[in-house]
Amino acid sequence: MSLIASGYLTPANVQEVVSLKRKLRDKALVVAGGTAAVQLISKMIIEPQAIISLEKVPLNYVKIRANSIEIGATTPIARLIRSRGLPDALKRAAESIHGLALKDMATVGGNIFTPAPAGDIATALLALDAILILRGGGGVRSVPLSKFYKGPLQFNIRPDEILTAVKINKPPKHSAFLKQTPWKYSGPTIASVSVSLDLDRNGKARRAMVALGGLTTHPYRAKKVEKMFTGKKLTEQLIDGAAQQLTDGVEVIDDALASSWYRRELAQVLFKRILYDFISRG
Ligand SMILES: Cc1cc2nc3c(=O)[nH]c(=O)nc-3n(C[C@H](O)[C@H](O)[C@H](O)COP(=O)(O)OP(=O)(O)OC[C@H]3O[C@@H](n4cnc5c(N)ncnc54)[C@H](O)[C@@H]3O)c2cc1C
Repeated sequence: MSLIASGYLTPANVQEVVSLKRKLRDKALVVAGGTAAVQLISKMIIEPQAIISLEKVPLNYVKIRANSIEIGATTPIARLIRSRGLPDALKRAAESIHGLALKDMATVGGNIFTPAPAGDIATALLALDAILILRGGGGVRSVPLSKFYKGPLQFNIRPDEILTAVKINKPPKHSAFLKQTPWKYSGPTIASVSVSLDLDRNGKARRAMVALGGLTTHPYRAKKVEKMFTGKKLTEQLIDGAAQQLTDGVEVIDDALASSWYRRELAQVLFKRILYDFISRG
């Protein structure tokens, strides 16, 4: 393969992508489904000299093992809805993405890089404590999604690396995702909440993970709230108290879609709905 025959490159495998990335670094943009990249380019937020398309790279897969789940980076979001054995949070997040055509084109990997009002899959993955598998000139690196976001459109990824897969180790037994959009069924995310829980036989939380989307450029984990749940039984009092801390110390987006006040209120409502539902299901 000639490395730079044109501005649109279609490598056949990860190795070829990495060698192109090593050569072109930030001059080239990796494109998977293209649904978000097209907007970044047309709004001139980024101006790449070349496109490295992942369309021929075999990273479209879902592997469900006894104690882990691995999803290839170019797996279309629609495939998450059809796959059996995935955590509820991930399925619900996939269903909530706007439109059938978009679900077929947009990829799991691309969603992780796309800022609010997108990032629904990323929010669910964050609450599932997902780990990103990155590959570059230096080999393979695993980065927890909770340590991936460094700022608006800034990620813990090196210029010669690409995301190849997402892994969920020991998928939590209970998980949920809820989002609010301006429209009835789906659309841009005003606020979203995803919660995963592992309960012991006495109903006390062994592990609680809470992620919020739509409130900041990229989703975040509410660590303080998670600590409030660890080792405790779910009660209405605990849930109501925790809901008030969800956005503590967080600068919430205030824009034409919604005010920061509204987003904060919504986050609390969605969080309480998820946890009251967990209680009611025992
Ligand atoms: C009309 C419309 C409605 C939408 N509604 C929603 C919605 O309801 N919820 C939601 O969450 N999102 C929504 N989005 C956003 C979009 O669909 C998602 O973010 C999508 O998942 C992006 O995936 P992609 O494969 O198209 O990414 P691309 O557009 O191909 O890439 C996006 C970014 O990710 C980088 N990238 C992609 N894959 C890799 C990789 N493997 N390694 C390294 N970098 C990579 C690219 O370089 C680029 O910067 C919507 C978009 C549109 C246009």
